[in-house]
Amino acid sequence: MPMRPRTRLWLPSNRAAVREMMSYAVSDGVSRGRAVPEPRPKARSEFQRDRDRIVHSTAFRRLEYKTQVFVNHEGDLFRTRLTHSIEVAQVARSVARALNLNDDLTEAIALAHDLGHTPFGHAGQEALNECMQAHGGFEHNRQSLRIVDRLEERYGAFDGLNLMFETREGILKHCSPARARELGDLGQRFIEDRRPSLEAQICNLADEIAYNNHDVDDGLRSGLLTLEQLDQVSLFSRHATEADREFPQISLRRRVHETIRRMIGAQVADLLAESTRRIQAAAPLTLADIHAAPALIAFTDAMQEENQKLKGFLREHLYHHYEVLRMTAKARRIIRDLFAAFTENPRLLPPQYQEMAANGNLARATADYIAGMTDRYSMKEHRRLFSVGEL
Ligand code: MG
Repeated sequence: MPMRPRTRLWLPSNRAAVREMMSYAVSDGVSRGRAVPEPRPKARSEFQRDRDRIVHSTAFRRLEYKTQVFVNHEGDLFRTRLTHSIEVAQVARSVARALNLNDDLTEAIALAHDLGHTPFGHAGQEALNECMQAHGGFEHNRQSLRIVDRLEERYGAFDGLNLMFETREGILKHCSPARARELGDLGQRFIEDRRPSLEAQICNLADEIAYNNHDVDDGLRSGLLTLEQLDQVSLFSRHATEADREFPQISLRRRVHETIRRMIGAQVADLLAESTRRIQAAAPLTLADIHAAPALIAFTDAMQEENQKLKGFLREHLYHHYEVLRMTAKARRIIRDLFAAFTENPRLLPPQYQEMAANGNLARATADYIAGMTDRYSMKEHRRLFSVGEL
């Protein structure tokens, strides 16, 4: 019997990866491309290539040992920056696909959005920002961009990852107009007050959905939050009641998960409904229409209000819990001590950063070094510099 010809596994150029997307989605065709021109990928879209470059980067692997809320060594099951980024990517990709947008770009932005985080989460960033006040400040968004534009050392032809313009635009979530002027084309939208792509807008809200929900989970797991406290939060109590109605006999752990999955489901459904309504009302045709329109990816006012209440609750009961604040205070001290030690005596820096300091700005090279550290590496470095008897 004659054999049927084998189906081609992938199409020439990058057509295999192209799905039906809306005319206002970001596509390879409308992209502003890469700073250093490169041949087109053979079996992937340009944005799949960006995602792959991010996954293979050193900064991405470091996220495994960087704090989300709980310091990495406090427990094996808490979220880290890495698992947080993967959860953001999951939510963001689902939303992008449901809205027929570019889910490869969305995934790339989501996986890269926290690359620039210092050790010890927001406490680390605030401490480093204070140290950097006289030198242009420190902000994790800008640092994420600095990593993908300059600091990763992987390719012969360029510094950084040479990502597509729209991936970089999505990574730079916010920026003051003064700083924006230093960023050329990428900063322009902050000066002109224009919106980024819908794919980037999705990542912002997926980030919020992911951390609000996983912080409830981690807070309960750690014992710093209690179910009685959470009953004050309507978003939680409403979905806990639903879970109880459906599964009256389940264990506490399952009940928490059944509640949180309902919360995520409700937030995503709300986001899809409201964003669809806004997109239909604005009737954009092109990506340029998206840049000119107000934010089109959004929650309803009702859900926005519930989210704010949950955020306020988490701030008060989890992020400002005395046990978390103790760790935060320690983290600040570590960052400040390291910064002071290196800037007072640059010879203490590893040679690569001494070289960067010699070529320009000592404070910035020190900030790059410290921001790149994982939690445990920064603690080890602190011991090496400050404890007698430690190598
Ligand atoms: Mg995040």
